[in-house]
Amino acid sequence: MHKLRDDFFDEGKAQSLSPDPDERAESDCWLCRGGIDYTVPPATTPDSHTLDHAKDVDTYPELQEDPDNFRHAHFSCNSSRGKRAPNDQGLGEPMPAWWKH
Ligand SMILES: [Zn+2]
Repeated sequence: MHKLRDDFFDEGKAQSLSPDPDERAESDCWLCRGGIDYTVPPATTPDSHTLDHAKDVDTYPELQEDPDNFRHAHFSCNSSRGKRAPNDQGLGEPMPAWWKH
């Protein structure tokens, strides 16, 4: 998984440097459509890169390592979206009971 994550960061970084505006847009945060700071290591600043999953892996665990499910996202946007990275578990508000039904 770590290798996939590194590859995905490199892909986004390459896209962000592309002369093609459409390809450059592919490197933007899929949550807010803002540009990601690829000059700093992933998950080190609010604007830095993280790998997000289009379909959350709690619901679709088989897509955890499926590159088709990967999306570029800001660290801050990914964090505020919640319950994505295993490291984030235990932080934030638990889902209210009514949400689950
Ligand atoms: Zn964002």
